[in-house]
Amino acid sequence: MARVLIAGGGIAGAITAIALHEVGHEPVLYEAYDRSAEGVGAFLTLAVNGLDALTPLGLKPLVKSLGFDTPRMTLGLGNGRRLTEFPLGGPLPDGTVSQTVLRSDLYVALRDEAARRGVHTEFGKRLTGATQTSSGVTATFADRTKTDGDLLIGADGLRSAVRRIIDPSAPAPRYVPLLNTGGFTRGLKLDDEPGVLHMVFGHKVFFAHVIAPDGAIWWFANVPHAAEPTESDLATMRGPGWRPRLLDLVRSDRARAAEIVEATETIYEPWATYDFPTVPVWHRGRIGLIGDAAHATSPAAGQGASMAIEDAVTMAKCLRDVSDPAAALTAFETLRRERVEAVVAQGKRNGDAKAPGPVGRVIRDFFMTRALRKPSGDDPNRFMWEHRIDWAAPVAVSPV
Ligand SMILES: Cc1cc2nc3c(=O)[nH]c(=O)nc-3n(C[C@H](O)[C@H](O)[C@H](O)COP(=O)(O)OP(=O)(O)OC[C@H]3O[C@@H](n4cnc5c(N)ncnc54)[C@H](O)[C@@H]3O)c2cc1C
Repeated sequence: MARVLIAGGGIAGAITAIALHEVGHEPVLYEAYDRSAEGVGAFLTLAVNGLDALTPLGLKPLVKSLGFDTPRMTLGLGNGRRLTEFPLGGPLPDGTVSQTVLRSDLYVALRDEAARRGVHTEFGKRLTGATQTSSGVTATFADRTKTDGDLLIGADGLRSAVRRIIDPSAPAPRYVPLLNTGGFTRGLKLDDEPGVLHMVFGHKVFFAHVIAPDGAIWWFANVPHAAEPTESDLATMRGPGWRPRLLDLVRSDRARAAEIVEATETIYEPWATYDFPTVPVWHRGRIGLIGDAAHATSPAAGQGASMAIEDAVTMAKCLRDVSDPAAALTAFETLRRERVEAVVAQGKRNGDAKAPGPVGRVIRDFFMTRALRKPSGDDPNRFMWEHRIDWAAPVAVSPV
């Protein structure tokens, strides 16, 4: 049994801890913030490949109880034209389809479930350093405490401290030229079918909304923004000026965006988008990376959380079947790198369509209209949804 220190109690960290506990290891979860996960962002849609990976851990019913079915999406243009409607992957053999969940609900439920199953979790523990010998690792935290383990897994997200520890020259995340915003609207009646995600490539803004079973409208928007905004740039956009600015951008579209934005009480203030095309070093000795720390994808893939889940389950398989920690981390990279980098690349392509210039927009709308006349078998997102992990199959290690 290995004592596995996990930095980061987000999606990857909590599920890795649950999966490692399941296979007989002793995971310990260290999360920089407190349990509540207040303000960790609005909502996300979990794809069927991620939901399927939860099955052997018995987590699928829990996650499904938090969200609502989101089986299909529509794509349209700012001129009001609806281009296509297609399933968001799946359904799985038991009928499960994509789920839309509040991010904070998901984090809290996974952390609570980890604790309920006996995973020791410490909140308010920000990892700041780690050293390793041939027999173990020592992690250091911002509160100057230390702890020892056999292995350290960095599940500490886009701005990972563990990534810098194993590779001080690791690249910074890449700015994707989009700002994110969104919100929840109550009291506005739309005649759309609940659970269908409607996405519109507008003249200036990409806008998506879905109606929850209780009638609330959950929405997000991506606003093109060429240069990476600094914190002070973002500060100038925040506050009461953000709503009229957003309304100006969506008003020329023949879509629901303007009425939804107008009816929203609290609009999320804008934040910048990043991805990671490649992180050269995923592990060194007994320290490895997982989730966004290793390979963040732009939200346009709709796969970041599912990649974190697939990673967590694969990492547990590797540490179940390969006794040497360094060899297990190598096996993990062999199993995961090609897939996640393909997903990040697809997310980038999806995101590029959201931020064209004025000429690019006309070209995009023309080609998108043509491309979507093809049968749905050509959907370039399909490979993301169809991936399955065989939990029972042992991990084979190639000789190092
Ligand atoms: C706007 C937006 C929309 C998105 N929409 C979707 C979507 O619809 N579908 C989808 O699948 N994905 C989506 N994603 C991506 C998804 O949220 C991420 O890929 C996913 O959360 C990654 O999980 P993670 O556990 O690796 O990282 P995180 O969820 O970021 O968790 C990292 C955790 O580590 C903690 N931490 C950080 N540093 C330290 C430290 N030094 N010590 C200890 N703890 C630390 C953090 O507090 C956090 O709890 C979206 C992302 C964004 C930004």
